[in-house]
Amino acid sequence: MTARRAHNPRMDDAPIRVRCACGWETAGTEDDVVAATSEHGELVHNMRATRDEILAMALPAASQESAQRRTG
Ligand SMILES: [Zn+2]
Repeated sequence: MTARRAHNPRMDDAPIRVRCACGWETAGTEDDVVAATSEHGELVHNMRATRDEILAMALPAASQESAQRRTG
């Protein structure tokens, strides 16, 4: 079979990254990034971020330095 998988723009497996205000950065799968960011927040900033909060500041790992800013 030569069927190719379509490129699904689903967020499930898409690598994401999070950059902290302190310069710390992590990238990986959603679960990895959430876990790492949560741990970093607690250890370094004594702050707890929920999964939703972490995902809200996550960016697609593919895009490097995007000039676009999200508003709203
Ligand atoms: Zn930090």
